[in-house]
Amino acid sequence: MKNKPVTRAAAEQGSCPDSAGDSSVSRRNFLKGSLTLGASLALVGLGPVTGANAAFVYPDIRPSQGVTKKLWLSHYMPSLKGTNLDTPVFFFESGKPGATALLIGGTHCSEVAAHTAALCVLENARVEKGRLIVIPYANRSGLSTRDTINNIPRWHGIKSRSGPRYICYGNRRTDPKDQKVPDPEQYVHPSGYVNKKGNEARNLNRCYPGLKDGTPTEQLAYGIIQLVKAEKADFCLDCHEASTPSGKQAPNRKKSGRLAYTLVSHPSGLEIAASAILDLEEDAGITMKLEESRKGFRGLSHLEIGDATDCVSFLSESPNPGQDWDASDAEVINNPKYPFAHRVGLHVRLFLKLAENYELLKDKGLIIKGLPSYGDLMAKGVGAFLN
Ligand SMILES: [Zn+2]
Repeated sequence: MKNKPVTRAAAEQGSCPDSAGDSSVSRRNFLKGSLTLGASLALVGLGPVTGANAAFVYPDIRPSQGVTKKLWLSHYMPSLKGTNLDTPVFFFESGKPGATALLIGGTHCSEVAAHTAALCVLENARVEKGRLIVIPYANRSGLSTRDTINNIPRWHGIKSRSGPRYICYGNRRTDPKDQKVPDPEQYVHPSGYVNKKGNEARNLNRCYPGLKDGTPTEQLAYGIIQLVKAEKADFCLDCHEASTPSGKQAPNRKKSGRLAYTLVSHPSGLEIAASAILDLEEDAGITMKLEESRKGFRGLSHLEIGDATDCVSFLSESPNPGQDWDASDAEVINNPKYPFAHRVGLHVRLFLKLAENYELLKDKGLIIKGLPSYGDLMAKGVGAFLN
């Protein structure tokens, strides 16, 4: 099942979300949105390729019937239009006043359970009060290149509700071709904060709150901030994965798994985060640590979105064996110790618990239904909850 390219049929299915079947979304408009950019590449049958021809991949997204609107991020940041950093944004609008939640996947495209969790929400949710916005692939450019940490195969087959489907294991950073400028020796964040590694200039989660006329990755971060402001998002969760607690110890590096099972919260969200963690433990038996955003470490979503906007921002980390040191043979989907369903379930259920606690503590309605329980995900597998 590993390293198998997506078929033309699958690529077409992914880029033509007929499966949305939603009367409130005009099919013509949906297709119009989908037929831009890379979708057109997928439709002419290029499919995902590797090596020198590796090009941009249109992710396979099959939204639920609850989606009421689809926009591209370039709606908020026009300079992204026509680039591989533009990305689809999906809305669930209940029509009843309440809170607006934002779920972000695919900030780092190698973190497969994180973007699959966003897909799982996108493909199952029903919103009965308030609004939900999902960006399943925040840095879509990261799908275009292979993982460079452990050279993990790009395509992983799973069985979805409608048949075979392939999950893309991409790269942590923007494709250098899309960044257009070479990596600097060090990445200096607009605040002056210095990242010693120059390639962090292509890491979306080092570039917030972004720059209107910055590098493409800084413009992407700026675009997400514009969306948060324009849509008045009340809270957001940016899903991630990290090395596992049982991973090999890299020489001269911090202990493996330090970040896995962590919820990082902007200072404005600590009470909601603490309650959500307790609820998650009861709901799924998963124990998470709570960390407050560090003020000095600039460019990260949980700090910068919360500082730049009125949105309470969180970031979640699940364990990914593909991010362990020296783990080129890591099984990233069917791993017995860190099953995919466990990792996807962590983000999906945590997001729901954050939404429930936001509603409770801020007294601003937000009711999200239709998401699989942790037990169902573990018993039936993630594919049973993907279209
Ligand atoms: Zn990450």
